[in-house]
Amino acid sequence: MTVDDQNGAPLALDTLAVREALPRTPYGENSEALFLTSSFVHPDAATAAARFAGEQEGFVYSRFSNPTVSSYERRLAALEGAEACMATGSGMAAILLLAMAMLKAGDHVICSQGVFGSTINLFGRELARFGVETTFVSQTDVSQWAAALRPNTRLLFAETPSNPLTEVCDIAALADLAHGAGAELVVDNCFCSPALQRPLDFGADWVIHSGTKYLDGQGRVIAGAVCGKAAPIHDKLLPVQRTVGLSLSPFNAWVVLKGMETLGVRMQAHSAAALAMAQWLQTQPAVGRVFYPGLESHPQHALAMRQQKTGGAVLSFELKAADAQQAKARAFHVIDQTRICSITANLGDTKTTITHPATTTHGRLSEAQRQAAGIGQGLIRLAVGLEDVSDLQRDLSRGLQTLV
Ligand SMILES: *Cc1c(COP(=O)(O)O)cnc(C)c1O
Repeated sequence: MTVDDQNGAPLALDTLAVREALPRTPYGENSEALFLTSSFVHPDAATAAARFAGEQEGFVYSRFSNPTVSSYERRLAALEGAEACMATGSGMAAILLLAMAMLKAGDHVICSQGVFGSTINLFGRELARFGVETTFVSQTDVSQWAAALRPNTRLLFAETPSNPLTEVCDIAALADLAHGAGAELVVDNCFCSPALQRPLDFGADWVIHSGTKYLDGQGRVIAGAVCGKAAPIHDKLLPVQRTVGLSLSPFNAWVVLKGMETLGVRMQAHSAAALAMAQWLQTQPAVGRVFYPGLESHPQHALAMRQQKTGGAVLSFELKAADAQQAKARAFHVIDQTRICSITANLGDTKTTITHPATTTHGRLSEAQRQAAGIGQGLIRLAVGLEDVSDLQRDLSRGLQTLV
């Protein structure tokens, strides 16, 4: 079903999340169909030729065009307020596709040092081998981004809030900086999803998604996407996608399409539970600092509340301890005493996940790098799911109570 502005009024996110997709097929299905087909048949040779040449609309081959994947792209573009979207097989594939389409050897990128670990490796290690140089700067200090600008800077790459300390980037300030220097701003919007934050509204040029997280929302499939303006997506990203095949499976697209239908209500519920958990953790004697943008104690609470509808679903907290060794033992104790939380580094699931960043997501960093990033041995990350909040509090209490 194609959603248009029936009375000229823009449709709200919750409506688009349920309704925006390709038009129904002649069978009149109410739920979007799953097209598990690698190729598409043409009525005659001339039509095949026109479709292959891109002169006529029509599906050709699922490496770069598939109706279920198109519905996923249309829905996500609508949610982000973007002109267009290109689906990819994973969130990392989305970043790679954008980099391959927009960068060449000799170009320069500025990236927050607070981004997802694999993103750091992609820019700092893999793309460096192809002559793209990246400078990593502070998540929160815009003057460091300004100082890193060069004539050949093409992209600024940010992720907000950051993992696990929930530090917030000023999207509008970074967009102004990028545009003043002839560069573009990319924002990885995994943690908030468009239900809570729309980076394009603040001037970002590109939005990256790992559909694996809140868009699916139930921890089932790997998926990704790049959202942005229609012209560069059609002229620059599509030819690269067609050639390199960082494609999303139609089945995974279909799963995430279903997930997006409930994105709004889920993000509200995740956020309410995360805020309740953050407030409760602040009252626990064994807990030192709690990091959550929805708390007034968060250093960038005001900025976060300008950019985001809520504090989001992810928080972290530090256990009080005499030294790093005791902090690690205490963190492991609290994690191991849980019976409900899943001990896993994933997030964006209905199931609450609990993580010790220093030995998992940030385990490959040196102790000095971890110190610089503020990730101590007593830090625990919680990606709050949709279980009952008092059950989650009792689950954490079991370990916390025995520490004091
Ligand atoms: C998970 C994640 C990614 C990578 O997504 P995949 O789908 O796992 O490839 C990128 N950025 C952020 C912020 C993530 O949380």
